[in-house]
Amino acid sequence: MTAPNLEAGTATDTIAAISTPPGRGGIGIVRLSGPQAASIAALLVRPHQPLEHAHARLADVIDIREAAGAMEEAPDSEGARARSTSIDEALVTFFAAPNSYTSEDLVEIAAHGSPVVLELLLRRALELGARLAEPGEFTQRAFLAGRLDLTQAEAVRDLIDAQTLTQARQAASQMGGALSRRAVPAKQSLVELIALLEAGIDFAEDDIDVTPQTEIARRIDRITPTLAGLEASFARGRIVHDGLTLAIVGRPNVGKSSLFNRLVERDRAIVTASPGTTRDLVTERISLDGIPIELVDTAGFREGARDLLEEAEQLGIRRSHEALADAALVLVVLDATQPLNDEDQRLFAAVEGRPAIVALNKSDLLTGESEFASASQPALAGLASLATSALTGEGIAALRERILALATGGAAAEPGMLTNLRQHQAVTTALSALADAAKANASGIPHEMILIDLYRGLWALDSLTGQTTSDDILNLIFSTLCIGK
Ligand code: GDP
Repeated sequence: MTAPNLEAGTATDTIAAISTPPGRGGIGIVRLSGPQAASIAALLVRPHQPLEHAHARLADVIDIREAAGAMEEAPDSEGARARSTSIDEALVTFFAAPNSYTSEDLVEIAAHGSPVVLELLLRRALELGARLAEPGEFTQRAFLAGRLDLTQAEAVRDLIDAQTLTQARQAASQMGGALSRRAVPAKQSLVELIALLEAGIDFAEDDIDVTPQTEIARRIDRITPTLAGLEASFARGRIVHDGLTLAIVGRPNVGKSSLFNRLVERDRAIVTASPGTTRDLVTERISLDGIPIELVDTAGFREGARDLLEEAEQLGIRRSHEALADAALVLVVLDATQPLNDEDQRLFAAVEGRPAIVALNKSDLLTGESEFASASQPALAGLASLATSALTGEGIAALRERILALATGGAAAEPGMLTNLRQHQAVTTALSALADAAKANASGIPHEMILIDLYRGLWALDSLTGQTTSDDILNLIFSTLCIGK
């Protein structure tokens, strides 16, 4: 992949791409952006009315080259254009620079979603002087033109990738600038502090009062909480964005697969009455309050190995341990009708210190009220436990709630959350720079030195929105978008 031109406002070429996914569809869209977008489009389609900014026009898709070729005319001759037969009917929308997604002239041709038609349109556009767009290049042009900042461009990608409605909402709010808006006041205050200190240095001999230590400290203290709040939002923002893995572990036959199915609400894993029919690891994604959670069911033993029950149980336990290693959350399943044994204890030891819940399953088989739970509480390694029955569904709603609480750590959803490591890094760098500045100020270090820390903080905040992000990183971010976006 060649690196797209990163200098703002210098795009002289016109890019083209099929913006809809490959394959057949009801409609398919070819997009053109750049100075020649309209003139190229004029040779691809014949609108029933002249194109006008932000108006959709019905148009015939034509193959002017074929018509021109037959008469040996120039491919852009009016005659060829008028004579071309219609291949498809399309809706063409023109956006004039600078009022378009990319800030350039932009044309969208929405034809029927036949790959043959879309490929013809694209091929002809390339023959007429357009260049095939790099992945994410339309959005990159929007960024370079200053229409979007980097957090908004990242949100475009997140919106396209969203798998739950909550993820889509989070991305849409970030696309609207929610995250950048949260960072703006902190940046503004930081700039003011820097200006104050710079003035004190530049005009020292002009009797400008040197900013007192307490004033600097007060100003830093005012900026820090905003950034700390932003930093804390990553706890929830990250899991909405990335999701989490929950490993369901326990001895064979305790009801892991049955609980898995209850949580998935579909018969995904095969459940039978013989111990350990779950093969290998079964995974399924569920959404709890919009947070994507990947459930991992661990294996019992393979069918046909019943004579190797002992060995198979060991295998199951080993798989449980393997699944444990990768999961953020753990659901330990016990059979409420059976006493704890050594294997349960070993599992508890493995889970120690990790976010885990214990399900006392098969609660429907208990005769006395919660006899198991009360008798064995101290043995559950201090983990929160609840009674469930995969058979009757009792306790499943509560189990979902517990999983959600464990996943979020109680962090509430809020507008403008940090959603990826890059953003988090920018904010933590700014925070640590401010902490250094505060320390330097407290020890009476010259203002020139404090300024170094403050500028580092400012640079970090600017990198959040992409004002000081290196081209390498920008290219990486945009290349994760699909072609045509
Ligand atoms: P796994 O080996 O831990 O995955 O256990 P399974 O989900 O395959 O369940 C083993 C057996 O226990 C099956 O016969 C299930 O129908 C049964 N079972 C699972 N959960 C419950 C429950 O809550 N109550 C009762 N009575 N039986 C259950």
